[in-house]
Amino acid sequence: MLSFWEKKHFLDFDLIVIGGGIVGLSAAIQYKKQFSDKKVMVLERGLFPSGASTKNAGFACFGSITEILDDLNHQTEQEVLDLVKKRYSGLCAIREEFGDEALGYQATGGFELITENEIAELNQLDRINKLLFPLFGDSVFEEIKDISKFGFSKNVLKVIQNKYEGELDTGRFIQSLWDRCQQLNVKILTGSEVKHLDIEKSEVTVRDGESGITFKSQKIAVCTNAFSKSLIPQLDILPGRGLVMVTKKLPKTIPWTGSFHFDKGYVYFRNVDNRILLGGGRNMDFEGEQSTDLVVNYKIRDYLKKTYSEIITPGTSPEFEMEWAGIMAFGSSKTPIVKMINKNVGLAVRLGGMGVAIGWETAGDLVTQISKV
Ligand SMILES: Cc1cc2nc3c(=O)[nH]c(=O)nc-3n(C[C@H](O)[C@H](O)[C@H](O)COP(=O)(O)OP(=O)(O)OC[C@H]3O[C@@H](n4cnc5c(N)ncnc54)[C@H](O)[C@@H]3O)c2cc1C
Repeated sequence: MLSFWEKKHFLDFDLIVIGGGIVGLSAAIQYKKQFSDKKVMVLERGLFPSGASTKNAGFACFGSITEILDDLNHQTEQEVLDLVKKRYSGLCAIREEFGDEALGYQATGGFELITENEIAELNQLDRINKLLFPLFGDSVFEEIKDISKFGFSKNVLKVIQNKYEGELDTGRFIQSLWDRCQQLNVKILTGSEVKHLDIEKSEVTVRDGESGITFKSQKIAVCTNAFSKSLIPQLDILPGRGLVMVTKKLPKTIPWTGSFHFDKGYVYFRNVDNRILLGGGRNMDFEGEQSTDLVVNYKIRDYLKKTYSEIITPGTSPEFEMEWAGIMAFGSSKTPIVKMINKNVGLAVRLGGMGVAIGWETAGDLVTQISKV
């Protein structure tokens, strides 16, 4: 039962964004920066964003050497170059918008551990450096001469460094987005799950107790990533769950920092406050991880623990203090879906595993389309 005041003031908007992750918040900010007099609201179903944006590892990456080589098996050199360009320019854009301090950004580099399984691929190092040269004016990937300082297993034959990658603090990124929303007077309602989207009437209905509240908006931006099919069923999107674990603070100083990739990028780890954050391993159970349930896959947890004690810090048993799951969105292409469904409703979804890098610019692409019509 709504009051006169609620009906008069709270139900009509110029833009409603569904989903308060990186993309939804970025879309609200970029729209409001362009149209300061418009009424903008973000509806987020969780108390915190409940998909990927507060669950990720905070790698500020654009592709390890084996990942880029794998991409070249499915795409042309120009397409791969464009993908790297988009990711790198996305990282530059958020650093410029919010500043390194606010994001907790550190230019510590990206690293890939190379074992017998990947060693043959290194004969393509020069090819990839040449391919990326027009973007960076420099060689991006370099072999590290002395790898003994890392203390990795003897099975790690080489470590390849990418000096243009880095890492950020995932929580500080979201906090920066929230702060900017507040400065710009963007309303964020959390605990607000959109149960129904009426594309023709440009309305959204949010569950409220037994019933629902319907909001009307001139424009609607759907930024619900892996969960989008509940609102728009025909999309080419599959969920991909990811596991992240964090050790207790280690007694000895960890002798490395940066964003590390192993097993063709399926496993990743970094040093956070002298703890090891370790995640990934979806390749151990692709089918099992095609889920939106926020639970831990024990098979993957065992694999990550084994990787920790056999590869990363050989001979030690990890003491993990925390673990959590997050949900990514994949599909037949690595490119996000950004399009208008009709003249009022648009979407920016399917961010894959690189939303930190491409989220802000993907949101910007949607805002451009929404503002045009
Ligand atoms: C474990 C893990 C590690 C990752 N590591 C990295 C990394 O190191 N670097 C990197 O670049 N990327 C990483 N990613 C990917 C990155 O986090 C995502 O690509 C990015 O967060 C996607 O942002 P988004 O806003 O599109 O989606 P989401 O963050 O999923 O946001 C969508 C939001 O919509 C909300 N929502 C859904 N349905 C509704 C509804 N009906 N009503 C209201 N709200 C709704 C959800 O609760 C969610 O908060 C990782 C992802 C995971 C899961």
